[in-house]
Amino acid sequence: AKRTPGTSYTLAEKEFERGSSNMLEQEQALRAGIERGEFHLAYQPKVDAHTGALTSFEALARWNRPGFGAVSPLEFIAAAERTGLIAALGSTLLWQACAQIAQWHATYGSCVPVAVNVSPLQLLDPRFPQLVEQALEDHGVAPQWLTLEITESSAVQNLDQTVAQVAQLRALGVHVAMDDFGTGFSSLNMLRTLRLHTIKIDRGLIDPLPAPESIAVVRAICQLAQALHLHVVAEGVETTAQAEAARDAGCGELQGYLYAKPLSPHDAGQWLAQHTEH
Ligand code: C2E
Ligand code: CA
Ligand code: CA
Ligand code: CA
Repeated sequence: AKRTPGTSYTLAEKEFERGSSNMLEQEQALRAGIERGEFHLAYQPKVDAHTGALTSFEALARWNRPGFGAVSPLEFIAAAERTGLIAALGSTLLWQACAQIAQWHATYGSCVPVAVNVSPLQLLDPRFPQLVEQALEDHGVAPQWLTLEITESSAVQNLDQTVAQVAQLRALGVHVAMDDFGTGFSSLNMLRTLRLHTIKIDRGLIDPLPAPESIAVVRAICQLAQALHLHVVAEGVETTAQAEAARDAGCGELQGYLYAKPLSPHDAGQWLAQHTEH
């Protein structure tokens, strides 16, 4: 697996698995981390495929576990899901993201939408739409500044519930994106039923670009998305060849290390400042 340059999760990952091998210990470590406010968000820019201008940020969870170092989000999100702490962790992160949106508005007088990742367990909680509404209200944030990234797997496994939750979230005015599109088994009909705003094409389909077969797949997804009035984001763009191929295939927004890795709130603010200058 590729790693962000300059960070290595490998050791902490193993520590978390080995040092906290049973669920009880993992649960205690996570619970303590949530209580102590050890979880933070990094913000990765997405850019307009044609102009290169900043369009939005994706908030990605980070845990610098004291004495252990950075733990991979894949590890601690999965552990939070196993131990039933994902609701608490997810709420903490949602509140942080809304606080950040409010702060950027206050500092720069404007903002771009911020996308928060939502675990299937969070999304399917009947109280989730109310939580989102509360988080926005607590920070005086208008709903159009918040996007929720949901995953294909939750939609496939619980289509009716997912459709109902997405409808409620839409009614609130937040945007909903399907993450990792192309890795799961969502049918084309499901995309129509869900009434999302955006799909994010998984890195696994972007990585092989500009191989001709991959271009054909990405183009077909973009044509479908266009017919359904969905925005398309290509994720994991690392080279200019991939960026050009994704843009030519019809992706409207691009995200990946080619533009920026996930940034601290301060560094993300610098992007925002440049974005709002002109
Ligand atoms: P994801 O939502 O698909 O996020 C994309 C991942 O790819 C992030 O890894 C990001 O840092 C990384 N990435 C971005 N651009 C590139 C690139 O050009 N090349 C490569 N190789 N990787 C790139 P990260 O931050 O380690 O997060 C991993 C996964 O953990 C996320 O995948 C998401 O499923 C989950 N996750 C992260 N934060 C949260 C959160 O707040 N809530 C939930 N429920 N899940 C989260
Ligand atoms: Ca995501
Ligand atoms: Ca993704
Ligand atoms: Ca992913």
